[in-house]
Amino acid sequence: MRQVVMHSPGNVQVEDRKDPKILEPTDAIIRLSATCICGSDLWPYRGVEPVDHQVMGHEYVGVVEEVGSAVRTIKVGDFVVGSFWASDNTCEICRAGYQAYCVHRVLMGTIGTQSERARIPLAAGTLVATPRMPEPDLIPSLMAASDVLGTGWFAAVAAEAGPGKTVAVVGDGAVGLLGILAAKQLGAERIITFSRHADRQALAREFGATDIIEERGEAGVARVKELTGGLGAHSVIEAVGTQEAIMQAIHSTRPGGHVGFVGVAHDVAIRGDELFMAGVHLHGGPAPVRQYLPELIQLIWDRKINPGKVFDLMLPLDRAAEGYQAMDKRTATKVLLTV
Ligand SMILES: [Zn+2]
Repeated sequence: MRQVVMHSPGNVQVEDRKDPKILEPTDAIIRLSATCICGSDLWPYRGVEPVDHQVMGHEYVGVVEEVGSAVRTIKVGDFVVGSFWASDNTCEICRAGYQAYCVHRVLMGTIGTQSERARIPLAAGTLVATPRMPEPDLIPSLMAASDVLGTGWFAAVAAEAGPGKTVAVVGDGAVGLLGILAAKQLGAERIITFSRHADRQALAREFGATDIIEERGEAGVARVKELTGGLGAHSVIEAVGTQEAIMQAIHSTRPGGHVGFVGVAHDVAIRGDELFMAGVHLHGGPAPVRQYLPELIQLIWDRKINPGKVFDLMLPLDRAAEGYQAMDKRTATKVLLTV
């Protein structure tokens, strides 16, 4: 099968590799219908994280081709969506809704899903089947549910977005944009987003943003305060992961408010005295996407949301290198790879 391998920073190749096999009775093998490139794949691409001949990708939708003897809830022929942590969905942590911390979790990025086929560990817990084979136009949205929508949704929940709330969103990448969609679905009254890109601003508005701020850092914080009677937002989504973004999020939050942070943190340090005086709730980390998949799949199936709009470039898997370049140069927000 064809699979993406990152040889070194900036060097992405699509290679012939062995087809995956069932290794454990709890495994399934899927044939991917689509896969995509994640903003977090850019960290090794840019040399910020080490990389050496690594398989890539952790987002996937596809059709089940084979199941292990212990897999009963998923069957051959099902169209399935899974997320970036495989989880049993039965341990105490999973049952509490934190499947990203399952005691048996397996990081899908170590298996690599930018490929024609993939082995899915803990398949019965990890995979959620759609009611039937989806119409082709639903596939990008189902693909988005695998990570960026689920992550944006978790951020909005962690930030306690809801009726009567003013939500601010730091980050106009795919996760930030879908955090807007999530906040809107959760009933937020006002959604302020930080963005300097006209195309992303347009999609932000379509997903439910009511106000756009082009300033960032402390100037951006001052604008949020202006828009909220000097108080700050009730709920702030942080979807970048840099020092500036996390401080912008904390300082944009009113005392007693909530920050949902899902940008993968790189070189972030929060001073204790600043944290102490902020008086805000902080919750975030790797999103337990599995918790939200049944609800998100249903919203997509019923065509109530269209998160697939974040994909602004679609390429065949064999042209993955171009997709990485486009995301690195920010000429694309999110790249879908067709298989
Ligand atoms: Zn578990």
